[in-house]
Amino acid sequence: MTELPQDNLPVLRVALDVPLYRLFDYEAPEAISPGTLKPGMRLLAPFGKTQKIAYLVSVEATTELSRKQLKPVVRVLDPEPLLSPDDLRLLHWASRYYHHPLGEVFAAAFPAGLRQGKAAVLERPIRYVLTAQGKAIDPAHLQRAPKQKQLLEALQNSPSGLSEEELSVAVENWRPSLKKLTAKDLLKIDEGVIMPDDAMPLVKGNPIECNPEQAAAVHDVCDELGRFGVFLLEGVTGSGKTEVYMQIIQQVLASGEQVLVLLPEITLTPQLENRFRQRFAVNIAVSHSKLTDAQRQTAWLSMQQGTCSILLGTRSALFTPLPRPGLIILDEEHDTSFKQQEGFRFSARDVAVVRGKLLNIPVLLGSATPSLESLYNAQSGRYRLLQLPNRAGNASAPRVRLLDIRNKALHEGISAALLAEIRQTLDKNEQVLLFLNRRGFAPTLICHDCGWVARCVHCDANLVIHFREQKLRCHHCASEKPLVKSCPSCTGSTLTPLGLGTERVEKVLPELFPGKNIIRLDRDTTQRKGALENYLQQINEGHADIILGTQMLAKGHHFPNVTLVAILDTDSGLYSIDFHAAEKLAQMIVQVVGRAGRADKLGTVILQTRHPEHPLLTTLIREGYNGFARQALDERKAAVLPPFSYQALLRVQAMDPFKPKAFLEEVKKLAAVMQRGETQVLGPVAAPMAKRAGLYRYQLLLQDTNRQALQQLLDSLTPAIDSIKKEKNLRWSLDVDPVDLY
Ligand code: ADP
Ligand code: ZN
Ligand code: ZN
Repeated sequence: MTELPQDNLPVLRVALDVPLYRLFDYEAPEAISPGTLKPGMRLLAPFGKTQKIAYLVSVEATTELSRKQLKPVVRVLDPEPLLSPDDLRLLHWASRYYHHPLGEVFAAAFPAGLRQGKAAVLERPIRYVLTAQGKAIDPAHLQRAPKQKQLLEALQNSPSGLSEEELSVAVENWRPSLKKLTAKDLLKIDEGVIMPDDAMPLVKGNPIECNPEQAAAVHDVCDELGRFGVFLLEGVTGSGKTEVYMQIIQQVLASGEQVLVLLPEITLTPQLENRFRQRFAVNIAVSHSKLTDAQRQTAWLSMQQGTCSILLGTRSALFTPLPRPGLIILDEEHDTSFKQQEGFRFSARDVAVVRGKLLNIPVLLGSATPSLESLYNAQSGRYRLLQLPNRAGNASAPRVRLLDIRNKALHEGISAALLAEIRQTLDKNEQVLLFLNRRGFAPTLICHDCGWVARCVHCDANLVIHFREQKLRCHHCASEKPLVKSCPSCTGSTLTPLGLGTERVEKVLPELFPGKNIIRLDRDTTQRKGALENYLQQINEGHADIILGTQMLAKGHHFPNVTLVAILDTDSGLYSIDFHAAEKLAQMIVQVVGRAGRADKLGTVILQTRHPEHPLLTTLIREGYNGFARQALDERKAAVLPPFSYQALLRVQAMDPFKPKAFLEEVKKLAAVMQRGETQVLGPVAAPMAKRAGLYRYQLLLQDTNRQALQQLLDSLTPAIDSIKKEKNLRWSLDVDPVDLY
């Protein structure tokens, strides 16, 4: 560090969680010796009339402000930075690559509590251990209280005690028995100090004997432990990917290292968590949106302090510090929920790869339907491809069939041929899964007399009928109104619901299949906490004959007794203006197909379509996802679309219908001046949904076959955009590598 003039305190350059590209300078508090200040520390800094959490970026000797303008920070919050130098490098990289303000990127790396300035102390989770008496007693003494006996045995097998989570896995409804054992002085709360995770042995459950493909995958990744490399594990649903993950994890744990496992929100189910807890004896942390802020902070800190060895988390867990990093796994890597769609629009998949490189550890991406980007990276040798072509155990792949419904009468979306198939399946006491990617009763309410259609006044969208609640709802903004009985335009009474939603199909199923149990799974039926888990349990226990739902069904769940799957509205994704749509449709179909016949029963999949000749569908059926992907990549190449080019989408919205376009025209001129390469600047055009929640929306697409050239243009363009922005009420955002163009 440079020698400072005696009377000059060092300048603290910090990032604040505000939507501004600049950093801020403060003076160090006098009592602090400058040597103890390290980048990444959280500080409390005065900001306007309030105080804000500031993230120390660097300690400088000089400032462009006059010394008098510098305010001292109020307090230093952390005695040591919570993030490692590698983590800080990652945040700087992400801020530059996504052209997002550094302070907001820092904020995304911390859990809410720490972001608000809470102390970084790990609240120790309660652990229960046996008393000396409890350790000595023979469980047979509790023969007449089987639950207590079970609990006692579980604890006798775990000398280091059990947390509440672990107890829940070991013994169902353990609390009453725990009270009784406590009263008998056999059990107590452990008051020891937090131990780093040195559980021995690491594994409790027995690993399954791998098939040759699984063994090869495990071997290939384990060969590379301790170095950077990206692996793409491609395996159909049920091919044993999770088993491969667990066996690799076991090896990483054996070297005392930590593992970060990222999953899409919806697939991080208690079943998966339990599978990990049953296999591994080490401490496991979990982080997802259904948990409280406090729980997520505990998960973050227990990894950061090294007391946990495995973190199962969703997108936001990506930045969790790993003092002993060993491996990053990203399951269902194709899932677009890994891309944050607002604010700091990062791709957890892409940043995970960069993180792996910085930490010099392998990154394992898994999917039954890899993204075209990842497949392309595998083809070009950047990623290593590992394949599990067969289902594990003795489950066989389902038969998939296109069902031509042109000129066929449909009964609420169900053709006669499909109806017969469903009956046959139900007669065999097997389960049926019906997939329809639209919730509500019907997407359109139209007047037969005058053609009036129920529209949202705030959006370019029709209102969706929700019949049970007697509401008309917009699925794009929060607005809703009562379901009208007569036409507001001509007062006629021939209002007709057009099209099909899950609620409408649910309504007709009991008439078609009397006496059968029907469960509908979509966002409307699973809002209550625990509702989804409840339904899943009912399904797995066989209390459902027909399961009807939206894409929620396509993700991660195992329905072993389902032998017939039907997609009612295959065509809805076939013709879209967004080039990503074909890929998403193919992934969705293959994922839905993966739900059938997981056990040893043969499954059938039926796709109802009016376009049985469509190349996407025929290739998918004939050659599977791989054939589709090859064809889709050829098309992308011919059209010079990603991954053969790189894109950034600049979105603008405002209350005024004309200003967004005018503004983007200014930006386009500015880009032309700054441009040194050949980046295409396409637009401005109205967004596919030109008005949403009362705001008019336009966009400008920047595209280049050279990533550096695009990045360089964005480097100069993004900081300048605010300077030409005169409208206060106009909002813009930049989306680097957009996963959709909406
Ligand atoms: P995926 O993650 O690819 O969907 P899983 O790892 O969940 O697959 O495996 C699907 C099912 O097959 C699980 O019940 C798992 O225990 C079982 N399984 C995995 N590998 C094997 C194997 N080698 N032999 C027998 N069963 C296996
Ligand atoms: Zn009318
Ligand atoms: Zn709306």
